[in-house]
Amino acid sequence: MALKPGVVSGEDYTQLVNACKDGGYALAAVNCVGTDSVNAVMEAAARNNSDVIIQFSNGGAQFYAGQGMADGFQAKVLGAVSAAHHVHLLAEYYGICVVLHTDHANRKLVPWVDALIDHSESYYAEKGRPLYSSHMLDLSEEAIDDNLNECARVLRRMAALDMSLEIELGITGGEEDGVGHEIDADADNSHLYTQPEDVLKAYELLSPIGHFSVAASFGNVHGVYKPGNVQLRPEILLNSQALVTERHNTAKNPLNLVFHGGSGSEKAKIAEALTYGVFKMNIDTDTQFAFSEAVGKYVMDNAKAFTHQIDPEDGTPYKKQYDPRKWLRAGEQGFITRLDEAIADLGSAGKSLAK
Ligand SMILES: [Zn+2]
Repeated sequence: MALKPGVVSGEDYTQLVNACKDGGYALAAVNCVGTDSVNAVMEAAARNNSDVIIQFSNGGAQFYAGQGMADGFQAKVLGAVSAAHHVHLLAEYYGICVVLHTDHANRKLVPWVDALIDHSESYYAEKGRPLYSSHMLDLSEEAIDDNLNECARVLRRMAALDMSLEIELGITGGEEDGVGHEIDADADNSHLYTQPEDVLKAYELLSPIGHFSVAASFGNVHGVYKPGNVQLRPEILLNSQALVTERHNTAKNPLNLVFHGGSGSEKAKIAEALTYGVFKMNIDTDTQFAFSEAVGKYVMDNAKAFTHQIDPEDGTPYKKQYDPRKWLRAGEQGFITRLDEAIADLGSAGKSLAK
């Protein structure tokens, strides 16, 4: 199986997802906030010969357009559009397949997703492909029928443009860019685990409409916390797959599953989740830290260059050290090194479908 390098959508996207599930590996889905992180993701993917998912939260998209833009909603939309154009232009030259995706959108952010689908409609009319490969709706705080009916409405729009929808069932703990849920260490945390009956309902409603994936909760959390609050239980994913397989007599792993909150997860649980049809694992917290840790080290190693253009004692010029390309590159390299590890954990190294 071989795909053209660059952004994938439609049938190519489906082939990529199926190759992951059949091969027992998953793609890293990396939250990005600007060209530094986007290019670092493509560099990491290319040097590992792995396909990859580049995604933007609403806040990441806003940052891409510029935190100072007066209209915040417009910035969230235009930042995501600008980022997508950047990736469409460059991805093929890195020689790997890239899935372009947006992260959590709760009810308040549905207009953001609809506005991005409007942009994909114009792009599709011109180029025959959508701007984004997929979007996510996270209406997991709502009643299951409200959640699924809205997902069905949005998927109808997206399916016409060869796009896929990621939905959330059950609740991922922690917070991602203002969308999230408190974890109460003392409470009954059963709401953090997806119910297989809900997944079956989603399958029955959405699979006739178009391609979709499910962020199922199995004790995963956003962010990195002290261990112990919630247990990762990947067998919940297995139970959901088994219920759909049994009711609809499908082949193994009929659902496309997504693992949120991959940062800080135990490696053995990641490996187990991969056998249950997980094709995408999100990573944000650990790559944020890796970028900042590397910049911090650079600044500490070159401390004088961050307070003086010229050394006050001996007159040495520090231009070469404070040039922002130097410390931004240090950040990118830290980010890439952490992604090497994620790509190894997910088993996608050497598996790019791009030819
Ligand atoms: Zn998430």
